[in-house]
Amino acid sequence: MFEKPKRTVNRVFVHCSASDKPEDDDIEVIRQWHLARGFDDVGYHFFIHKSGLISSGRPLEKIPSAQESHNIGTIAICLHGYKIENFTTAQYNALRKLCAQINTAYFARISFHGHCEVADKSCPIFNYVQVLKLDKYGSFGGTSSGSTTPSQANNNNDFVELNYGDRGEMVKRLQTLLGVKVTGVYDDATLKKVKDFKTQHKLYPSGIVTKQVWELLNKPILDNISSNTQHAIDINTLPDLQQGSRGSAVELLQRYLFITTVDGIFGPKVAQAVKKFKKSYNLYPSDIVNRQVWQLLLNQNRKRTLA
Ligand SMILES: [Zn+2]
Repeated sequence: MFEKPKRTVNRVFVHCSASDKPEDDDIEVIRQWHLARGFDDVGYHFFIHKSGLISSGRPLEKIPSAQESHNIGTIAICLHGYKIENFTTAQYNALRKLCAQINTAYFARISFHGHCEVADKSCPIFNYVQVLKLDKYGSFGGTSSGSTTPSQANNNNDFVELNYGDRGEMVKRLQTLLGVKVTGVYDDATLKKVKDFKTQHKLYPSGIVTKQVWELLNKPILDNISSNTQHAIDINTLPDLQQGSRGSAVELLQRYLFITTVDGIFGPKVAQAVKKFKKSYNLYPSDIVNRQVWQLLLNQNRKRTLA
């Protein structure tokens, strides 16, 4: 069963070992390859054998050595195999199950990618997008045939009404969705965020998290925003963003910041641009895009459109 490391993780990368040899279907062999390349351990966190068995590689608490210059904030998974026809159904099932567990542990606020997305390589050879049913942001769309927690994301039917003082898994889920420290206790910081969130959505700002609030929290972010409707953007519908966020609101942010790659993924480059932007308005240069920052971005954009 997958357990979240303490370090921040927002992306998972999938690899292949580039070997079909049975004698290489062994994490120790891969470890020796990586030690020979100067790594201090095997680069991946998980290794999936042809049999579907999963071996643990380096500790999850350590960042991987797997995607050059894209290792921070990631988990790396490697499937043994080289030729596409030689990967096994058992491997795909194991990968799906592992990714479903990871996705659940992060309340679906994590994306899945192939090594080829950040390097000029064809790794992981097989069609990971299809295997994991990924959308264009890398959101996991598969299901796990294994066990899932009651707090599995994207299920609007299993909501539980929460209020100040409550404890447990659902509070953790709430805190993750709100972007406050995940303590599992509905505390003052959570209460403040809930009230802010409800105010933003024109709801009575009490601390009660109703079904409606859960639905708003789980709603895919702004899927209907297009670049041509900026005059119609209601600031109340814009979510807070920070590094690791993804979706169409991030695309909008990228357009407003003149970032050439509009891919909906809030990576280090976007964070850099946000910090610069905030600094230019004498705001503390963090990567957090809140209502105040959105307002400034909208104003700036409006001025430019009129000029
Ligand atoms: Zn790779």
